[in-house]
Amino acid sequence: MKHRRTLCPFAFAFLVIGGMGGAACLSGNQQPNASPGPTHAEHVAEKVASPSAPRLDLHFDPDAFTLSKKSLVSWVQQSADAVAAFYGRFPVDRVRIDLRPVQGAGIRVGFVFDDEPLRIRIDIGRETQQSQLNDDWVLVHELVHLALPDLDERHHWLEEGLATYVERIVRVRAGLVDEQEMWSHFVWGMAKGRPRGGDRGLDATPTWGRTYWGGALFCMVADVRIRRQTQGQFGLEDAMRSILLVGGNREVVWPIERILRVGDDAVGVHVLTDIYAEMALSPRDVDLDAFWQRMGVYVSNGEFAGFDDSAPWADVRKSITQRSDQLASNRPVVLWRSGG
Ligand SMILES: [Zn+2]
Repeated sequence: MKHRRTLCPFAFAFLVIGGMGGAACLSGNQQPNASPGPTHAEHVAEKVASPSAPRLDLHFDPDAFTLSKKSLVSWVQQSADAVAAFYGRFPVDRVRIDLRPVQGAGIRVGFVFDDEPLRIRIDIGRETQQSQLNDDWVLVHELVHLALPDLDERHHWLEEGLATYVERIVRVRAGLVDEQEMWSHFVWGMAKGRPRGGDRGLDATPTWGRTYWGGALFCMVADVRIRRQTQGQFGLEDAMRSILLVGGNREVVWPIERILRVGDDAVGVHVLTDIYAEMALSPRDVDLDAFWQRMGVYVSNGEFAGFDDSAPWADVRKSITQRSDQLASNRPVVLWRSGG
């Protein structure tokens, strides 16, 4: 049975400790869009055009924000489209999204609540600017949570790690952020996911670093290993797409073994099961210096310093962010509702 649980309890710590994670990642010079929001007729037209499309019921009070209603609706639509493009489909048929106004400017924190339907809450500053919406990662992170079954508490690192890893790839593929920024973010973050003295496997070390970045490190290592072992035919996304295809979204509870098995079967190699034994059941470290070198990611003084396209795994690195022309099979429809 599904139990009521909230995802992202560490999200605030992520923002504060993360630095580059969100609040500090603000750039751009677009002004708030003052044009009026979509008309009722437009909403009805969208609904009629795609009666079976996944529905995102977006609740907020337009008077609570400096940004226009249209800007906020577009940001949600763009984030949902980006996630749907990565997975080939939007992960659930229905989700409620609440935008809760808070003091100041910027997207502060997000949560997923296991309500029926699933509910995402984003706390967003009343004075948030368009440039901050453009740079936002929080909403995509929360939407990625919808694409994995609810797991036992000890596997929380996979839920947060997958969201941390996939969010950035989703945004690069959608053209919302560039590869340099992504690898720079990964160089900065992945080191925080390595085991420290006294740590056990990911299943038994629920610290912030191991949960978010240890989980992301698991996903990155798995992605690269799947791509190498299948000669570039498949990546982690193919494993995750298959899990969704057989109903493995946030609405259901699965044992982790089923996720690993369905994912591995989809790509024909036993990478997820193997890496789970290495990193989750024991504290095996990843030699990140050697990893970045093989991937052709220059690192200087712990920071990203450029790409080396002659590196042995440079093509693997490029394939991770390569855009596919494949469209999502079920484009989500965002419907605004009053209140938040
Ligand atoms: Zn999360």
